[in-house]
Amino acid sequence: MDDRQFRNAMGKFATGVTVVLTEVAGDVHGMTANAFMSVSLNPKLVVISIAEKAQMLEKIKQSKSFSVNILSSYQQELSMIFAGQTKKQQEIVFDRLEGIPVLPGTVAQITCEVSAEHVEGDHTLFIGRIININLMESDPLIYFSGKYRSLAEE
Ligand code: FAD
Repeated sequence: MDDRQFRNAMGKFATGVTVVLTEVAGDVHGMTANAFMSVSLNPKLVVISIAEKAQMLEKIKQSKSFSVNILSSYQQELSMIFAGQTKKQQEIVFDRLEGIPVLPGTVAQITCEVSAEHVEGDHTLFIGRIININLMESDPLIYFSGKYRSLAEE
């Protein structure tokens, strides 16, 4: 099976879109990620999967904390900025939750401390123990088959 077949199959799993944020020595770094999943209710754990080539990997290893920000439907541009899909540079203003940077206007802001990390192939799975959550009433941005989408009204 070739890489394209694998990517095409995985892309058939519709997801939301998140921006993972972390901070090292006062510098906030963000990265678009859809490999995000809830893991456990008690204790409350989530997982993110970060590519070995991503700058984010070393940063989370250092900071031992991150936030997962679930993007709203109108935040596609932010997804593109934090995925390096646009040349457009933009000064982003961050909020803070429990001292960890979070992205304003998102459906959910979830702050975590790293409780474990597992290297699997060319990615590292970070298990995050949830510190706090902020929720907002807004529709999420959707990603399916390599394209941004939005929820359709029934
Ligand atoms: P860089 O490529 O250096 O940074 C990413 C971009 O964010 C750059 O354009 C940078 O300018 C900008 N940026 C970072 N911090 C700031 C800041 N403080 N202010 C303003 N701009 C800033 N990769 C994975 O490993 N796991 C995934 O789950 C995953 N899911 C993805 C889902 C989608 C829908 C998309 C489009 C991409 C996904 N990627 C994922 C790919 C990943 O987003 C890109 O490879 C990304 O460029 C890797 O980021 P990096 O940490 O290497 O940092």
